Amino acid sequence: MEQNKKATKIEVEYSGKAATIFSIIEEAESPRSVLDEIGVVGTKVFRRCPDSCPICGNGVLTTLELIGVANRPLFWECTNCNALHCMEERKWIEHRIKKLDGCWTICQAWEMPDKDEFN
Ligand SMILES: [Zn+2]
Repeated sequence: MEQNKKATKIEVEYSGKAATIFSIIEEAESPRSVLDEIGVVGTKVFRRCPDSCPICGNGVLTTLELIGVANRPLFWECTNCNALHCMEERKWIEHRIKKLDGCWTICQAWEMPDKDEFN
């Protein structure tokens, strides 16, 4: 049993079938790591709901929408193991997240302000 998933996963705010990922985006190094953090597994694209979760075999999956990233669900979420399976190409989703943040590539060139400057 893998119970100790990364703590940041808890920060995803589930409101029904949608989640906001802004708190994760702020801390993540790249759009790719955002998807890792929220529990996206693999790169296989499931345009239609899989009969069962490819990870655990559970037959109940719900859709998950990421608020601000796209105005429709992007993942199938397993109700048992919470694995997220992509409805779209992972690269496309990462691109949307990058646009959402707006300054990703530039941020890497910036120096992080000292902690003291945060309030
Ligand atoms: Zn599963």
